[in-house]
Amino acid sequence: MWKGKKVSKIQKKSRMSLLKRFIWYVVGFALFFAPFALFNRGLAFLLDEKRSGDIHATCFRMPLVDMLTGKGIVILSVTGISLILLLVSAFLLGPFFCGKLCAAGAFTEYLSRLLPDKWKVDWSKYVNPVPLRYGFFAAFIIGPIIGLSLSCSYCGYSFFEKFTNGGIWGDFGVLGSTAIITAFLWLVVFGLFTKGGRGYCNFMCPVGAAQNIVHAVGAKLPFTMKIKYDRKKCVSCNACVKDCPMRALTQGEDKKIQHSNHNCITCQQCVAVCPTKSITYGFGKGGWQQEEVKPVQEPKPVEKGA
Ligand code: SF4
Ligand code: SF4
Ligand code: SF4
Repeated sequence: MWKGKKVSKIQKKSRMSLLKRFIWYVVGFALFFAPFALFNRGLAFLLDEKRSGDIHATCFRMPLVDMLTGKGIVILSVTGISLILLLVSAFLLGPFFCGKLCAAGAFTEYLSRLLPDKWKVDWSKYVNPVPLRYGFFAAFIIGPIIGLSLSCSYCGYSFFEKFTNGGIWGDFGVLGSTAIITAFLWLVVFGLFTKGGRGYCNFMCPVGAAQNIVHAVGAKLPFTMKIKYDRKKCVSCNACVKDCPMRALTQGEDKKIQHSNHNCITCQQCVAVCPTKSITYGFGKGGWQQEEVKPVQEPKPVEKGA
């Protein structure tokens, strides 16, 4: 009885959280993606820069190539300021762009939630996504140094924009064979049929990986925001693990919850569904580790004849 009531309450909380997050993602869509791209256009206007009003204006691929090939990067530019905001916000708040604003990542997550779980693969059971996403990020960095071209054909943003704008204007742009294969991976294999719906985010997105690298460092400091856990309150119901879109939570052998700052996007879905408020988002030293229970000290053996 208690369990049944709790489950439906958790589902309600999950839906409310999804709705609140959806509103954030709509704001993110309006700010960064064509046809609106209000942030990109506003910044370009302030800096008197002639940039196209789409997500490509904020992408750090070209500035990265310029930096690595010795051309340097203009800080006071749309891309320069976007890159600084992206990394500073990830350091202080966690991957804020991923968790609150990136409509591309949210699109596949919400799409995947339309399918029953039994049809989806939980890749994290078979492979740890963290080395893969950092490996892909390393290839993204090393590629330009050894003369490889990093094409928009591999980009989830690009596909999302093509999809939404294609839906609005009926123009899906040019799609080569690499783009079609990557689109299939992004939308179908790693989206629709992946538990959490964020396989592209977890395995392939360099923007997400860059934010998680700085978040993993920032989360160790007391003045930054991070996801925190109180082991003593946890009743091991597993609701947080099931609802985490990034599969950043696992249940240990002791039934307590483990968490990775290397792929958590601080979306706070786990905070919303936790029935005992064991998971919170806020300031604090050491983040996840700080509430760990100290090991119980063994009582000293009583000496015979004492
Ligand atoms: S990992 Fe990439 S695609 Fe996913 S939410 Fe973050 S920036 Fe967007
Ligand atoms: S651990 Fe929580 S905050 Fe982090 S990605 Fe999962 S649900 Fe979101
Ligand atoms: S942290 Fe909360 S949601 Fe997760 S297992 Fe513990 S009680 Fe359940």
